[in-house]
Amino acid sequence: MKKFKLNNRTIILASHNTGKIAEFESLFSKYNVNIKTISMLGIEDIDETGKTFEENAIIKVKTVPDGSIGLSDDSGLCIKSLNHAPGIYSARYAKKLGGWSKAMEKLYSETKKKNNFSATFHCVLALKSENSEISIFKGEVNGKIVWPPRGENGFGYDPFFIPRNSKKTFGEMFHKKKILQDHRFEAFKKMAKFHLTDS
Ligand code: IMP
Repeated sequence: MKKFKLNNRTIILASHNTGKIAEFESLFSKYNVNIKTISMLGIEDIDETGKTFEENAIIKVKTVPDGSIGLSDDSGLCIKSLNHAPGIYSARYAKKLGGWSKAMEKLYSETKKKNNFSATFHCVLALKSENSEISIFKGEVNGKIVWPPRGENGFGYDPFFIPRNSKKTFGEMFHKKKILQDHRFEAFKKMAKFHLTDS
């Protein structure tokens, strides 16, 4: 893909997840990028039929109309002792159980039986150019899950995940700090290297 720049451009985020959207708005703010979302264009969420984060990120970014710059994020939490569950099913798992709290409780109790709390947050970003070429950027953050959940900030599984070298859960961190140490930022930095210029 040509190394086009995203500075001062409009990007359509292929997401309805308010937590992710808030993180991208903050990450892009210093580059003067205009963020729109597919909801603003009346585009619904698409079924995530892929078998990997990458496949799902590609499925999602393709919902952005051709001719626009699109960005999607497929992410999730993989718990080592649960064979990397819930993984790509992170959002669906919580929905099935009736919310994040119930999902965290169930995951923690399953993990406790195995006595290994190691977990990794994964993020795959898919960037679609105006010519419909797609590039992929990946990021991950290792850590562990804890009980009880702590903190009111963030979204999803943030309150029971502590990244390596931290004492705080993502849910206890201020937004500004969390977004600079999560899996999304790891992927974002790789994209920024090619597609954003510091002013
Ligand atoms: P999807 O990428 O839309 O399939 O959803 C990813 C799901 O993974 C989210 O709904 C959250 O449950 C979880 N997730 C992904 N990134 C984060 C994060 O930064 N914090 C907390 N939960 C996350």
